[in-house]
Amino acid sequence: MKIFGNDEAPKLVFSEQELSELEPEQVKLDAPHPLLWLDIETTGLDPREDQIFEVAMVKTDDDLNVLEELQIVLGDTLEWVTLGKVKPEVLKMHVDNGLLLEARASSVRSEEAKWKIIKFLTDDYSQSGSFWEPVKKYTLAGSSVHFDKSFVLAKWPGLASYFDYRIVDVSTLRELGKRWLPAYSLPEWDESEHRALSDIHRSIEILRFWRGELYG
Ligand SMILES: [Mg+2]
Repeated sequence: MKIFGNDEAPKLVFSEQELSELEPEQVKLDAPHPLLWLDIETTGLDPREDQIFEVAMVKTDDDLNVLEELQIVLGDTLEWVTLGKVKPEVLKMHVDNGLLLEARASSVRSEEAKWKIIKFLTDDYSQSGSFWEPVKKYTLAGSSVHFDKSFVLAKWPGLASYFDYRIVDVSTLRELGKRWLPAYSLPEWDESEHRALSDIHRSIEILRFWRGELYG
């Protein structure tokens, strides 16, 4: 290979022999981060003001098989309720689904919850690095999971380093289906129970469906 050129614009020129030997550069895709499903239940919609009642995380493999689950109900959020800052309809929802009762029985406070989450995220730390260093990043997955992510980072900003900036949002697939597959009949998924773990399992079911439809 020689570089020829004039004063204006040097060019890279290959001989015929070299051209025949060229192979297309192999496209290497980075291995994807593992999926980490996230769902939370909160006292409201504002991550700066409202509190987390419950957080659940589920690790799945690339075939969407469940590997590991974490569910935490926070006891200290109940104090927020007693301050009268929670809307009646939210309270009623969490009375009906049992979350308020579980919060009353829970002794887990925010700081302890954070460490439970870090342990869950770094459970293979001994092979890969220090407990204090994130050993891997996760791609967050869920239904409109940007909402859940915003709350988690508002409450525990230190967890940010565990999460890739990309997300897998099953709500996106539903929204696109509504627009571009108008005659498409979607399965009847159960209504959300507004409980973190069961909502995650519902989201995984929805993604399993779309995976079959879109990726065979
Ligand atoms: Mg939920």
